[in-house]
Amino acid sequence: MPELIAQSLIRDVPDFPKPGILFKDIAPVLEHPAALQEAVDLLAEDARAKGAEAIVGIESRGFVFGAPIALQLGVPFVMARKLGKLPYDRISEEYALEYGTNTVEMHSDSIKTGQLAYVVDDLLATGGTAAAAARLVERLGGKVCGFGFMVELTFLEGRSALRGYPIKALIEY
Ligand code: AMP
Repeated sequence: MPELIAQSLIRDVPDFPKPGILFKDIAPVLEHPAALQEAVDLLAEDARAKGAEAIVGIESRGFVFGAPIALQLGVPFVMARKLGKLPYDRISEEYALEYGTNTVEMHSDSIKTGQLAYVVDDLLATGGTAAAAARLVERLGGKVCGFGFMVELTFLEGRSALRGYPIKALIEY
């Protein structure tokens, strides 16, 4: 496959948000319409092939990719948000970080029983966030038909946290 436009636009920012982390800044991709369109199109193609009936986007960069994918497929876009952001009845899942924990939440009525959900985020690192989002979908009675990421940091072995699920990553480091 030819190199994606996004590949040359992703910016490495060393020591952000803390020393030792090489942050993959996708802002230049979002500022380049053709690059963003290409990435959205490829993930939408995968979501369609997996039979997605809903797209779950993980706050906040997962929203940027997830909403246009949902529109392309004509299916609902569902938000997985950080703790305390969702106003209505919700369920929560905690996951481990290097230091401490984080929590993601979804509205209790956002996934229907048996619905096939495709989970989208900008980047797969350790896989903790995506795995927690999958647990939320399953607790609501849905099924995760796949995960889509623009970027995968393969050395962090996030795929092992998502074992058994189909995973699409457009750019690997
Ligand atoms: P994880 O749960 O470890 O897979 O982390 C994934 C989430 O953290 C995604 O929402 C990413 O946007 C963000 N993230 C983790 N590591 C990085 C990184 N090196 N560069 C940019 N974003 C990152």
